[in-house]
Amino acid sequence: MYNSRKKPMEETPEEITVIWSCTSDTCKGWMRDNFAFSAQPTCSLCGSVMEKSEKKLVVLVNSSFPPTKSS
Ligand SMILES: [Zn+2]
Repeated sequence: MYNSRKKPMEETPEEITVIWSCTSDTCKGWMRDNFAFSAQPTCSLCGSVMEKSEKKLVVLVNSSFPPTKSS
């Protein structure tokens, strides 16, 4: 069955993204590295220490955010 390889147009691009994931086994908390505001963030759900990890995520297309400009 190879005819299902063709993917629909709405396929969203994904990339391996650096994230922080909660070290608690019972917690699924994680955040994107660019959303972390400190070098060692803590989980916003349970307050546990977070560890750096990687996750395949849909690429964020943030059109409202202006590109880096030298001002
Ligand atoms: Zn947590």
